[in-house]
Amino acid sequence: MLVPAAQYLTYAEAVQLYNELLEAEISALVKTCGPPSFPFGDGIWYQLLIEETDAAAARELVARFEAQRAAVAVLRCPRCGSTDTQPLEQRSFWQRLYYAGTTLYRCAGCNRNFAA
Ligand SMILES: [Zn+2]
Repeated sequence: MLVPAAQYLTYAEAVQLYNELLEAEISALVKTCGPPSFPFGDGIWYQLLIEETDAAAARELVARFEAQRAAVAVLRCPRCGSTDTQPLEQRSFWQRLYYAGTTLYRCAGCNRNFAA
């Protein structure tokens, strides 16, 4: 029986995960899911289905992939909502103290610095 290994992937993510699973000798089936996209009628997201017997072997790989996905998620500026944000590499002395343990970002839209 086929079980979903990962859902709501973009096409690029689905291809990447498919290849990673293949390297681990797990063959996956890529299918669309989610609400249909106009005008093609397929889902706008992709999911990977694997054999139930491969599920245990795939779990660790998929978990690592999901963690990576979360890490590259786009940060929005809290002031203007722009997604054009970059980690700030140069920190002043007070910023290092004040924002210790966080990453400081700068919004290219409004130049606001914020911690995340
Ligand atoms: Zn902004």
